[in-house]
Amino acid sequence: MKLMFLGPPGAGKGTQAVVLAERFGVPHISTGDMLREQIKSGTALGQKAKAFIEEGQLVPDDVIIGMIKQRIAEPDAQRGFILDGFPRTRKQAETLEGLTSLDAVFNIDSRDDQIVGRITGRRVCQECGAVYQASRLGGSTTCPKCEGALYVRADDNEETIRERLSVYKKSTQPLIAYYTERGILKNIADEGSIDDITQNILSVLDAMNDYA
Ligand code: AMP
Repeated sequence: MKLMFLGPPGAGKGTQAVVLAERFGVPHISTGDMLREQIKSGTALGQKAKAFIEEGQLVPDDVIIGMIKQRIAEPDAQRGFILDGFPRTRKQAETLEGLTSLDAVFNIDSRDDQIVGRITGRRVCQECGAVYQASRLGGSTTCPKCEGALYVRADDNEETIRERLSVYKKSTQPLIAYYTERGILKNIADEGSIDDITQNILSVLDAMNDYA
């Protein structure tokens, strides 16, 4: 099972990717999470990526492609994976196509007004990386799963979000047409609860298996 989530920042790609990865027993591969890990560990790659991320710009393709090539060659990714936040450019998509083939690309179709509030309310666990909405934490500042401290991502402020949205529209949104042409794009409306959206995704996967 090789799936990918496409959609603007704050569409809930990561949330859905975590659920599906657990359900199908394959790794959740998020290039954003990998870059934040590199920054936290103070590696050269992390240092290079930091300024791009904080300005809401994309990290250069060669950096991302090198990182993802290594990751999908690891043993746990041989049975499949759920990609989240990669590919984000045509160059990345073409490179991925040369390495492996995806079964489906889920495009979560969110409106700009849904996104900004969701991202400014996002809280991330420093220890386990779990993501929450501040409004659902009842004022708590620690992770309900592991008690790690929760933080606001440096790029989750309104100004950077606007920039990330514009970068998304210019560089990543064209991938909707790219994957439509390849017959693997599945549109998922950003409507209802997290569970409703998961159910919609699972129904699409069931229908694909029925016709396979
Ligand atoms: P995310 O956690 O997916 O929202 O990613 C956070 C930031 O990491 C993005 O705004 C980019 O700066 C960078 N990033 C993550 N994935 C990629 C990618 N595939 N290509 C370029 N930059 C990326």
